[in-house]
Amino acid sequence: MSEYLLPLANQSVPVSFADEGVEWCGEQIAGLLRERSRLVIIADARVDLLYGKELLNALAANGFEVSTATFEPGEDHKTLRTASTLLDQMAERALARDDVVIGLGGGVSTDVAGFCASVYNRGIRWIAVPTSLLGMVDAAIGGKTGVDHPLAKNLIGTFHQPLAVIAPLMTLETLPVREWTCGSAEVVKVGLLAGGTLWKTIEQHGPDLKEWPRDLARKVIPQSAGVKLEIVARDEREHDVRRLLNLGHTFGHALETVTGYRTFLHGEAVFLGLRAAVALSHAQGLLSAQDSTQIDDVLSRVPLPRADVLSDALIAALAHDKKTRAGKLHWVLLKQLGQPMVTSDVSPVAVRKVADWVCEIASRGVPVDNCGRMRILVLNGPNLNLLGEREPAIYGDTSYAELEELICRHAAERNIEILIRQSNLEGELISLIQQARHWANGIVLNPGSYSHTSVGIRDALSAVTLPAIEVHLSDISKREDFRRVSLTAPACRALISGKGVAGYLEAMEQLSALIEQGSRVSNKTIHQLVIIGSGPAGLTAAIYAGRANLNPVVIEGLQPGGQLMITSDVENYPGFPEGILGPELMERFHKQAERFGTTFIDDEVASVDISHRPYRINLGSGDYLRAEAVIVASGASAKWLELESEQRLQGKGVSACATCDGFFFRGKVVVVVGGGDTAMEEAAYLTRHASKVILIHRRDAFRASKIMQDRVLTNPKVEVMYDTVVEEILDDGHGNFVTGVRTRNVKSDQQAVIPCDGFFVAIGHEPNTRIVRDILKSNESGYLLHMPESSFTDIPGIFVAGDVHDHHYRQAITAAGAGCKAAIDAERWLEEQRHLVSEREVFLAEA
Ligand code: FAD
Ligand code: NAP
Repeated sequence: MSEYLLPLANQSVPVSFADEGVEWCGEQIAGLLRERSRLVIIADARVDLLYGKELLNALAANGFEVSTATFEPGEDHKTLRTASTLLDQMAERALARDDVVIGLGGGVSTDVAGFCASVYNRGIRWIAVPTSLLGMVDAAIGGKTGVDHPLAKNLIGTFHQPLAVIAPLMTLETLPVREWTCGSAEVVKVGLLAGGTLWKTIEQHGPDLKEWPRDLARKVIPQSAGVKLEIVARDEREHDVRRLLNLGHTFGHALETVTGYRTFLHGEAVFLGLRAAVALSHAQGLLSAQDSTQIDDVLSRVPLPRADVLSDALIAALAHDKKTRAGKLHWVLLKQLGQPMVTSDVSPVAVRKVADWVCEIASRGVPVDNCGRMRILVLNGPNLNLLGEREPAIYGDTSYAELEELICRHAAERNIEILIRQSNLEGELISLIQQARHWANGIVLNPGSYSHTSVGIRDALSAVTLPAIEVHLSDISKREDFRRVSLTAPACRALISGKGVAGYLEAMEQLSALIEQGSRVSNKTIHQLVIIGSGPAGLTAAIYAGRANLNPVVIEGLQPGGQLMITSDVENYPGFPEGILGPELMERFHKQAERFGTTFIDDEVASVDISHRPYRINLGSGDYLRAEAVIVASGASAKWLELESEQRLQGKGVSACATCDGFFFRGKVVVVVGGGDTAMEEAAYLTRHASKVILIHRRDAFRASKIMQDRVLTNPKVEVMYDTVVEEILDDGHGNFVTGVRTRNVKSDQQAVIPCDGFFVAIGHEPNTRIVRDILKSNESGYLLHMPESSFTDIPGIFVAGDVHDHHYRQAITAAGAGCKAAIDAERWLEEQRHLVSEREVFLAEA
């Protein structure tokens, strides 16, 4: 056992590690709490399934009154909503001041549990029982608790130290592969901060601890946690030295935010963030080229999920980082290996370059489905624990322990994550099936004895909609009549009987094939409806189509969520009287579409082939899909002035997104060009950062809405130049940064040079029609044409929605409305096609 003490101003926190399971934690907790308080274990559903009951029993055996509160696993459930549901449960159980929360699980569980403990009843005690590598070396240590906000990770949180951190190292045996990678990122980070032997071990054994000899990993875990403890002891509240622990987290958090917390697990994003921090350290002239290459060689050995990320969006997300102080983002960089520093003096050009590079390496990652393992729950009903002892002539002489071993070996060979449970109790079997829906991809069920006639188990199987296979050791068709009755079999995909223990292995094989089939969007399938684009139009179409049972597939494109992902407040979307942040609104759209069975594909459409039906949708990755009907909702992109200097200086002071790049211009002068709502919005936003905003418009009146104009014209920081066009953007002579613009008054023809540091183009948007330009008609501005009062185009089965066809309104609400119309049109059209086919069949049959 390794024991540490974290000495803090108000308390000392014992931190212990042992080669033990959670039962040991029960004893440790009993030793810690002299009075027998009531305890509530907060865990995600997966960890609860693995260890919840064991810990609950261990605590109950030590005389505690214990209950459990669970939430859905995954970073995307680390939200205020989850915390609120858990707090409701704590309140319903009337938890009092001296009761204690036990945070059991990975970083998400301990962060959420600690947060709930910190705000419930103005703060109650809590104990962290980390079961993941990340939890043990990082998340559970140091008293930071919190939940994510759509704009930034961990934005809402508290400092609330646990009474103790108790880490049972044996739980790492069930840690999924990707979670090892995640925790490894924190160990590697500490290696970079500390240098020395820890970094040497990482260089020698690689950056992923799951590849290390287990003994070495178990030795290094407490050591790595020890480094963090030392830092926290010096600076509990992150005033100075603790900020070093954010190495790699600035880009890491931004990556998580722009991918909606769905693509990367936290540590995977930190691995990319560490690579970015190393690259930025070199770009800032700190790390030598040789050192940065050597470090990057080690870091780049970890396979990470593939993600298409726009560097604009990444930079916008950086602007919302928690580490922003007085409007300045604080970066943790490396002067040398083992010599970190915090600085806000970082060149925007370097940040932009590194962001571009990070986006490029993210796009070369591994498709996300291959990063995760398949997860199967093997559930054994009554009396199966007596296997080997009970009627060996019928059930064989393999014991239950041998059966478990056989299944685990088979699963390990196939890289399947497995959980085996047995119970003689019907209710418990039902609970396990219900819990499994948050974790497993499929279930192998041997209902045993009476439970194959259980209506409850059958209903649970139907409700969770996971593929299940029923297994019987004996051949039930040759046995008594009553054994042949199976109410559960109809809720399963197959029934295997009479093959003894080999039946389990066959069931696992069949289940893997079923799961794989279901998780792939196959080009053999003819989809009813494919939607191109995931902005308000595409996602609304998906919600309607999903509810009409069309099983829509959405191809998300390079900007999942669409244009609103790069804006902050949306004040005019009905239903949100206080306004809502653009990314949060789109996250809600996404969740709603997901709820109704939408399949999302992280790719972009390269072309659509309409030469025959079903239509073929060719993807950028080289794959293709086939669909009966297609909705084109590919939106619009920012327009540029088409000046040579504008193109050359993009990312060096020229931008089309104030939310993305505004924070680089704190206290500086910026020019905005345009006269519509976007220009007003950009100018207003920039006044938060810049000392002065010069708004240049080519006419003497704005076309923006009155309210937006008023907001800008009454702002003392804004100066307007009417009747003026920009003819050139000026730079420092080396093309490194913007120094001003050369303008011309269109009425007097007079030229002027206006000094400025940043230049924002806000002159509208161009519809994204490249992929359908040759097949669909468009107007002179490129907007797609459609039949009056509908979303039909002149190609049957192809519909349009949103900004791609709307040159007039171009609002989120009108795009959403158009998405609704397109889905209804597509549904009715598909229905008509079915009628036509059946009428034709009747006609042919009669003929
Ligand atoms: P978009 O939102 O443009 O989405 C297009 C989608 O298509 C994206 O997901 C993209 O990845 C995908 N795509 C593109 N090409 C392909 C391809 N080849 N393959 C696959 N997918 C593809 N409106 C308001 O109502 N209120 C506001 O406050 C507001 N603020 C705004 C602020 C800014 C800065 C901007 C730029 C716009 C704002 N708007 C606002 C307008 C609003 O964002 C748009 O009207 C709305 O997003 C249009 O929705 P859409 O679904 O048609 O397209
Ligand atoms: P827009 O309304 O088309 O306005 C574009 C502006 O840029 C016009 O003022 C135009 O000048 C000017 N312009 C165009 N080309 C130019 C060039 N080459 N050189 C100089 N100036 C040029 O585009 P938008 O402002 O992006 O708005 C698009 C849509 O989104 C609108 O429907 C808007 O309401 C909506 N939107 C809404 C919000 C909101 O509600 N909060 C925010 C942003 C956008 P002219 O006026 O001379 O044509």
